Amino acid sequence: MTDKSIRQAHADPGKVHDVVIVGGGPAGLALALALHMAPGVEVDVAVVERGNGEPPNDPRGWAIAEGPRRVLDAVGAWVDVATRSGEVREMVISDTPLGDAVRPSLLNLGGTDNEHDPVAWIVPAGALHGALLMRARETGIAVHTGTSVTGFEQAGAYASLATASGGFIKARLVVAADGVRSPLRSMAGIRTVGWDYGQTGIVTTVSHQFPHEGRAFQHFLPGGPFALLPLPGNRSSVVWTEESGKAKRLLALDDLSFMAEFALRAGPELGDFALEGPRGGFPLNLLIARKFAVQRLALIGDAAHRVHPLAGQGLNLGLKDVAALAEIIVDSLRLGIDPGAVTQLEQYERWRRFDVFQMAVATDGINRLFSPDIAPLRVLRDIGMGLVDRSGLLKTWILREAAGVTGSAPKLVQGLPL
Ligand SMILES: Cc1cc2nc3c(=O)[nH]c(=O)nc-3n(C[C@H](O)[C@H](O)[C@H](O)COP(=O)(O)OP(=O)(O)OC[C@H]3O[C@@H](n4cnc5c(N)ncnc54)[C@H](O)[C@@H]3O)c2cc1C
Repeated sequence: MTDKSIRQAHADPGKVHDVVIVGGGPAGLALALALHMAPGVEVDVAVVERGNGEPPNDPRGWAIAEGPRRVLDAVGAWVDVATRSGEVREMVISDTPLGDAVRPSLLNLGGTDNEHDPVAWIVPAGALHGALLMRARETGIAVHTGTSVTGFEQAGAYASLATASGGFIKARLVVAADGVRSPLRSMAGIRTVGWDYGQTGIVTTVSHQFPHEGRAFQHFLPGGPFALLPLPGNRSSVVWTEESGKAKRLLALDDLSFMAEFALRAGPELGDFALEGPRGGFPLNLLIARKFAVQRLALIGDAAHRVHPLAGQGLNLGLKDVAALAEIIVDSLRLGIDPGAVTQLEQYERWRRFDVFQMAVATDGINRLFSPDIAPLRVLRDIGMGLVDRSGLLKTWILREAAGVTGSAPKLVQGLPL
């Protein structure tokens, strides 16, 4: 549907949706589906997306933990990506300088409470985005593509959105799922805290000589963390962090020279490597919105927070936002309460803020602790990791936290219906 058709659809100035989601990325689409599919309540939900509605050619593989995977399952998207995703059964962590020929494991995390369950899944980003889009189309959710939101105004009982072509859309609740730069967040005057890391995440896919056997490798190198994440077959997804100037030079290399630099970092466990997919570079930053909600507006996904990808947690946090906000909206509508009222939205903010803050602090701290190539610091962190490695209880706790199923998890994260 085009911007023009949206204008026509909203020619009736009295039409007010329950929820309009700005941004048809994975967080926005998952929320639309969760609301649309909620049992026993009809939620009038629409999505507004400035892109053309095709999944972007995104070379990332997203690590998705068990709790957020259940959210994708509940909205019907998991079934389409399960066989294209790699299972992580063990995480091998090392901390060595760049020149070392071997990268001995300092910490091994593997197996959950049920040792048959994977620790996480590595899901190709384009496949997941495509599955969510297809599901939204199948279920008949109005996804207005090619439509850019340019204005936001609170107008008493509803909020009004202006679009680039002069149309207006009204909703009792507007959700900003419009990514880390979130135009809607700025329009609502919500400020952020955070900083640039001066690092870029180089991402691609490689094939390798030996099977990974479900092992994910995280090498902490002086330029930043370097991760190899298992995909189906003898393939792995790569997230390789470097200082941004260096990353730019690496991305500009021809394939042969790029793979020579890659091999220096990858270690010998998987044998020889070949490039299997396009390369991409993503500038890395930390960002947390000062508020996750104001009257008639809630922020989810990267619009609310952006964390360092070293723990693969950004979208996991976003899917937990989806589960929490969907639960609050659906409960409100069932009780006849206005879902855009600030009292309802404050519940959402309280529910999500601590989890996000905790993850932001943890990933920021790990990045700072592991990046400096200072020998005494390496000794200290290696002793620390060695202690964790020997503590079965601590390892179980870390894995349960990583699965995202601890604490007061929302229903969809627990695998329960809304
Ligand atoms: C290198 C790297 C590796 C990562 N690895 C992982 C990982 O392993 N696991 C994990 O959980 N997370 C990971 N992440 C984080 C993850 O990529 C993000 O959290 C996720 O993509 C955010 O999704 P989103 O839907 O919130 O935003 P986006 O995907 O950015 O979607 C925002 C959408 O809003 C639309 N939009 C913007 N402005 C407007 C407007 N004005 N009007 C209409 N539409 C608009 C955009 O076109 C876009 O489609 C990684 C991130 C990086 C950088």
